[in-house]
Amino acid sequence: MSQAEIGLIGLGVMGSNLALNIAEKGNRIAVFNRTTTRTDAFMASAGNLAAELVPAKTMEDFIASIRPPRPVIIMVKAGEPVDEQIAVLKKLMAKNDIIIDAGNANFRDTMRRFRELEGIGLTFIGMGVSGGEEGARHGPSIMVGGTPESYARVEKVLIAISAKFKGDPCCAWLGPNGAGHFVKTIHNGIEYADMQMIAEIYGVLRDGLGMKPKAIGEVFAKWNKGRLNSYLIEITAAVLAANDPKTGAPIVDVILDSAGQKGTGRWAVIEAQMMGVPATAIEAAVAARSLSAMKKERVTASAVFTKAGSNSLGDPNSLIDKLELALFAGKIAAYAQGFAVMEAASKEFSWNLPMATIARIWRAGCIIRSQFLDTIASAFEQNKGLSNLLLAPDFVTMMQGATPALRHIVARGAQEGLPLPALSSALAYFDSYRQARGTANLIQAQRDFFGAHGFKRLDAEGDFHGPWGSGN
Ligand code: NDP
Repeated sequence: MSQAEIGLIGLGVMGSNLALNIAEKGNRIAVFNRTTTRTDAFMASAGNLAAELVPAKTMEDFIASIRPPRPVIIMVKAGEPVDEQIAVLKKLMAKNDIIIDAGNANFRDTMRRFRELEGIGLTFIGMGVSGGEEGARHGPSIMVGGTPESYARVEKVLIAISAKFKGDPCCAWLGPNGAGHFVKTIHNGIEYADMQMIAEIYGVLRDGLGMKPKAIGEVFAKWNKGRLNSYLIEITAAVLAANDPKTGAPIVDVILDSAGQKGTGRWAVIEAQMMGVPATAIEAAVAARSLSAMKKERVTASAVFTKAGSNSLGDPNSLIDKLELALFAGKIAAYAQGFAVMEAASKEFSWNLPMATIARIWRAGCIIRSQFLDTIASAFEQNKGLSNLLLAPDFVTMMQGATPALRHIVARGAQEGLPLPALSSALAYFDSYRQARGTANLIQAQRDFFGAHGFKRLDAEGDFHGPWGSGN
C-alpha cells in the first residue's frame, strides 16, 4: 500500500469530516484516533473514500504510513489533549515534519507550542477551522498561522478543501505563530454577538409582539433575502420553522433556554480587555450566555419581580422593518469591534494581519459567512489603515440609516423590560465612539481627588492636580 501524503489525528465530528474532505480532493490520508473503535466505525462509513484512507491502530504505524516530510493535522479536544498528542509526535516525527493544530486552541498555547517545536526542528502551524461538521466535510473557512514557508508546503491541500466564495478560496495565511488561532477566536467572539443579537430580536418578536415561532421564522426568512442575508439568519429561519417530532410543537418551544459555551467567546473578551479595546457587544453576548445558564435563579427571580409587559409593543407591522434595521446596526457595531480587536493584536504581536483577507475568507464556509463580509473586505481594501470599520464611508452611510431604528428598539425594549444586552451595548458603543467630548474629564477629576493620579488639561500640556487637596 502506498504511503499517505498527510495524516490526521482525532476522528471526532470535525476530524472525521475533514479527513473525508481531504480524501475526496484526491489526497491519500493516514488517520488515527485514540479510541480505535471510532477508527473502525469511521472506515466502515467512508464508502468509496476508504480507498484514499490509511487507518492506523498505533501512533507508530500512523507515522510510518505517511511519506516524509510529514504534515500531520491534530483535530482533538483543545487544551491538554493537544499537548499530549504533540508529546507523542515529538518522539516519532523527524526534522522538517509539520504539526498542524486545527482545533480551537487558545492562541497563547499556539505561540508556546510554536516556540517549543521550533527549538527541536519541528514546524508548527496553528490553524483555525470554522464551519462546523458541514463545513469540515464540504469546505470550511481556514485561518492559518505559522511561517510562510510551512504554509507554502500545505497550501495546495488546504486551498483544495476550503470553501469557495464565487470561486475564491476561503483559506489564507494570516501571519506568524498564533495569528490564525487568534483570528479564529475573534471570529467566534463575533459569532457569539451575532447569534445573541438575533436571539434578542427573536425575543422582541416573541415577547414584545406575541408572535409564534412559525411567523417569526417567516420574518427571518424574508430578512435573509435582504441586507441581513447570512448563514445565521438562514438557519434561524429554518430552526423556527421546525417542529418537534415528539410533541408536534415548534421545536424552539421545547428547547431549554440555557446555552453552553466552550470558551472561545470568553477568550475573545479577555484578549480585548487585555489590550484595552472595547468589544462591548461580544462581552454582552458572552455574559448573556452565562446568564442563560442560570436557569434556576432566573425562575426564582421571575417569581419575585413583576413580570415585564408581554405583547406590549403593539402592531408588528409597524416594528418589523425597524427590527431588521436595528439588527443590522447592531451587527455592524459588533463586527467593527471584532476587527478593532484584531487590529490591536496585529500591532501588539507585530502580525500585520490582513483585514481585507480575513473578511474575504469569512465570506463562505464559516458560521458567520455572509454577503456583508464582502462589503467589509471592500471597506478595508479601499481605506488602507482604517482604524475602525465605523469610519469607512460606506459604513458611515449604513450606520446613519440604521441607528435610529436601533435606538428606537433599544428604547422600547428598555421601557417594556425586554432584555437586549448585546443590541443596547452596541448602541452605547456607537454613541460613545462618535462623541467628541465624552465624560472622562469627570473620571480624571475623581481619580485625582481620591488618588492624586493627576489629570491632563485641554488648554495646556503636562500633568495637573485639582484644588481639592488638604492644602486647597
Ligand atoms: P469531538 O468531541 O467530536 O471529538 C473529540 C476528539 O478528540 C475525538 O477524536 C477524541 O478521541 C479526541 N480526544 C479527546 N481527548 C483526547 C485525548 N486526551 N487524547 C487523544 N484524543 C483525544 O470534537 P470536535 O471534532 O467537535 O472538536 C475537535 C476540535 O475542533 C476542538 O478543538 C473543537 O473546539 C474544534 N472545533 C469544533 C467545531 C465544531 O463545530 N464541533 C468547529 C470548529 C472547531 P476519542 O474518540 O478517543 O474520545
